[in-house]
Amino acid sequence: MATQIVENILEEAKRHGAKKVSEVQLVIGKMTFLGIDQIRFSYGILVKDTILKDSKLIIEENNGVIQCSSCGFKGPVPIKDDPTYHIPVPTLKCPKCGKEAKIVEGKECTIKSITILKPQEKDNDNQQ
Ligand SMILES: [Zn+2]
Repeated sequence: MATQIVENILEEAKRHGAKKVSEVQLVIGKMTFLGIDQIRFSYGILVKDTILKDSKLIIEENNGVIQCSSCGFKGPVPIKDDPTYHIPVPTLKCPKCGKEAKIVEGKECTIKSITILKPQEKDNDNQQ
């Protein structure tokens, strides 16, 4: 997953003629169950030999949205405290009618923005 993200960022940066990337903003859906720490760690390793090296990584979380096909409810993923595991677990039950709802947001990783450094006109001193 992290590999795919880094590849996408590199592609995007190349398209803009980036020489270096200074900042990357990602939005990670909570329903991907990807750990942010894990992404940060992988990112650090994956960008070592790329123009993304030393870039600042900003991660935002998207809590996710569910939609109920029975009553049309659309809203944030309800979180239920599960006493068995003692952790809050997202449920896919419609809070309005109790029927099964489906995830419409929060399962994706998207690149929100990339701050790139373009080659400057000034420093093309290798022309002679
Ligand atoms: Zn419903």
